[in-house]
Amino acid sequence: MTQAPQPAIQELPLPQVTQDALPYWEALKEEKLIFQRCTSCKSAIFPPRSDFCPYCNTYGQIEWEQSTGHGKVYSFSVVERPPTSAWNDRVPYNLGFIWLDEDWVIFSEIRGASKDMAIDASVSVEYETRGDFVLPIFNLRT
Ligand SMILES: [Zn+2]
Repeated sequence: MTQAPQPAIQELPLPQVTQDALPYWEALKEEKLIFQRCTSCKSAIFPPRSDFCPYCNTYGQIEWEQSTGHGKVYSFSVVERPPTSAWNDRVPYNLGFIWLDEDWVIFSEIRGASKDMAIDASVSVEYETRGDFVLPIFNLRT
């Protein structure tokens, strides 16, 4: 079996920050994982919105809240082939949706042996500096 040619990209990608998500990225620099919550219907909101709750259609009732960083694997995939050459040293790695204890979902890398990955596995956040950013990465809890 032959491998598809890889793009010659040597740098890992960086986030594209929107104005609405600026507080989220600033909090990560202090190793705090935050999300939004609607004070009207109490729903957790992620990714960050300007000031609008997509669950109850209310404006002006959104507040930031700090997460414990604990959750469970909702779904995952093991990446065996690097999408670009920048990922060569990282494969295999796990990507997945994390259902946080505060009832919101984030997509992230999940560190741990691929054989230990499972739906509902407990995870907790840690932080990785990449360029001028700090990224949330999750670890399997054993
Ligand atoms: Zn709401």
